[in-house]
Amino acid sequence: MRAIVFEKFQSDPVLTDVAKPTPGPGEVLLKVAGAGACHSDITIFRVFDAETAPPQMPPPFVLGHENSGWVEELGEGVTGVEVGGAYLVYGPIGCGRCPACARGQDTYCENAATMPYLASGLGRDGGMAEYLAVPARNLVPLGDADPVAAAPLSDAGLTPYHAIKLALPKLAGGGKHALVIGLGGLGQMGVQILKALTGATVIATDMREDAMRRAEEAGAVTVPGGEGQAERIRELTGGKGVDAVFDFVGAAPTIALAMASVAIRGRVTIVGIADGSFEWSFFGVPYEVEMTSTYWGTLEELHEVVALYRAGRITPDVEVFGLDEGLEAYRRLEAGELSARAVVAPTRG
Ligand code: ZN
Ligand code: ZN
Repeated sequence: MRAIVFEKFQSDPVLTDVAKPTPGPGEVLLKVAGAGACHSDITIFRVFDAETAPPQMPPPFVLGHENSGWVEELGEGVTGVEVGGAYLVYGPIGCGRCPACARGQDTYCENAATMPYLASGLGRDGGMAEYLAVPARNLVPLGDADPVAAAPLSDAGLTPYHAIKLALPKLAGGGKHALVIGLGGLGQMGVQILKALTGATVIATDMREDAMRRAEEAGAVTVPGGEGQAERIRELTGGKGVDAVFDFVGAAPTIALAMASVAIRGRVTIVGIADGSFEWSFFGVPYEVEMTSTYWGTLEELHEVVALYRAGRITPDVEVFGLDEGLEAYRRLEAGELSARAVVAPTRG
């Protein structure tokens, strides 16, 4: 079958022929419906080398860690999964036995150091291919919802969902405000999820006008970048500041904006991995502000994300590419030329 393979560090992935996978015990074979192209894939094939990459991710493997598909074949011992049914794939694969895996949070598997891979498309073959084998446990049923547009939900939907879910205590009650910094794929999903889960006023900011228009359509109030940005955000909150800030960039200036906008007792979640720094001091930030990072989400939360999607409450904005256009999708992602999430749909050519 054809697949987009990460062959070696610091080089472009290649579209090539690989063996069609066979589902092992407890696994299923999926005919891939959609595989989202994620910025972290670019980190994998462009930035990492043998020293800096996680040890569970030596090349070669098929890229694609946000996947959906139709069940084609059941591996030994699998029951309760509908052949031909459409499913979204929870990407992370932990040991399945530790406390973190027991709560469906394979991202923080306590035995990750001894696992041979981290996730589908992260050390183990992913979904940028005609077929994909995954553990049956990782499947979330999509029913009659479109599986191609659903693919990014497993990362671009789940990551903001997890961050927002943990911040819900800050947003419960009347007169609350949330701030979304950075309106790429995850930020746009963040706006939609905040609108679906809370009654908070959602403020959103980005340097790109078209991204802010899209966030307004989803119900956000937007504030442009530049001089006086934090002051304008604070004005929208009646001067008190924002109860929960989600920084989908994570660069030094966006973290500084987050800390300048947050209210006393507020929470700042750094979702973006731009690796910016912030100098904290006791009197330099409002009292009792929580500042945290976040990483992907849980299997339980992915079921909740799919429930929102199936109810029509959240809709990922996608641009669909055939498998033979997948390398072009990565090129445009890397060049910053995409405004929607690129989804590779192998059944479309
Ligand atoms: Zn990703
Ligand atoms: Zn585990």
